Amino acid sequence: MREYSHVYVEEAARSWPDTERVLSRFPRATVISIDTAAELFNRKQQHFQAQKQSPKLILAVDRGPFLFEGSERIKSFGNAPVHYTVPMRNCVYNCDYCFLQGMHRSANLLVTVNSEQALAAAEERYNATGGFFLSISYLTDLLGFEDVLPYCRRWIEWARNRPEMVIEIRTKSDNFAVLSGVPPSENVVLVWSLSPEPVSRVHERGAASFRNRLFAARAAQQAGWPIRLCFDPVLRVPNWQELYRQAIGETFRRLDPSRVELVSYGVFRLHGDFLDRLREVQTASPVVHAHYERSHGLSTYPDNQIAEVRDLMETELSKVLPGERISFVHG
Ligand code: SF4
Repeated sequence: MREYSHVYVEEAARSWPDTERVLSRFPRATVISIDTAAELFNRKQQHFQAQKQSPKLILAVDRGPFLFEGSERIKSFGNAPVHYTVPMRNCVYNCDYCFLQGMHRSANLLVTVNSEQALAAAEERYNATGGFFLSISYLTDLLGFEDVLPYCRRWIEWARNRPEMVIEIRTKSDNFAVLSGVPPSENVVLVWSLSPEPVSRVHERGAASFRNRLFAARAAQQAGWPIRLCFDPVLRVPNWQELYRQAIGETFRRLDPSRVELVSYGVFRLHGDFLDRLREVQTASPVVHAHYERSHGLSTYPDNQIAEVRDLMETELSKVLPGERISFVHG
């Protein structure tokens, strides 16, 4: 787990127990009081990648709303209605293509300390609707931060006795051991996001290696957890066909395909002006500066290249999975 040199603490966050938990986890950090997280997080003249070299922690109170309607990207698994919650903004990892670089000016980790209120909001929605699909790791990688605050564990325990809920936790972490004492829950799905080793090593800095993600997914499978996988985004790097073919082959040599609920995949795509903003902060990444076309507000590969990706992924995945367990995502 990374150390943090500075922890900024919102005045209103002081009294929440999670603030004390985080501060005791980083006893050597310089602690600085601030009035509101927004003044720091949304400040102009911040450079995402410069900050990413030494990100700071910001502890803040989430003032709601705690639940947001999900986008097409989350709907990749077809459950409805779909919501997401934001216990953290930004991520311990640093993927070249990460959309958070287009969304936030700051790369600092904004951590909310009042998960009790987020859980209460979910409880209220659950009682009113009879259950929904909730992504808890949408604007971050929560399992990668679980050593500091046990957010995943809290949501898993909350969902355990609410059978109409489905909780999704996506990760590029190999930190499954942190959940080792937690019994599997039928309605919590762990989703490992996978990329071929040469892609993850170069373009997903800080995240677990491809192989270690597979080991973690296998440990989860063996412990009885429902797991899903996603290859998203598929990047058309040099020799991409062979890299993804090999990665899919290795994935299903190490994992039992009959116990993988679903595999989704998609190509690189970004909404709105996120690509322009990403290019400002990622000046050297060939992935970010590849040729994309913009159509209906989405920047992505030209249609013929998307078709090539679909063809390869469907061919390879259908060798091990029936069609209904393969999902192409393009929202
Ligand atoms: S793991 Fe996900 S959230 Fe974290 S940097 Fe990579 S793409 Fe972004």
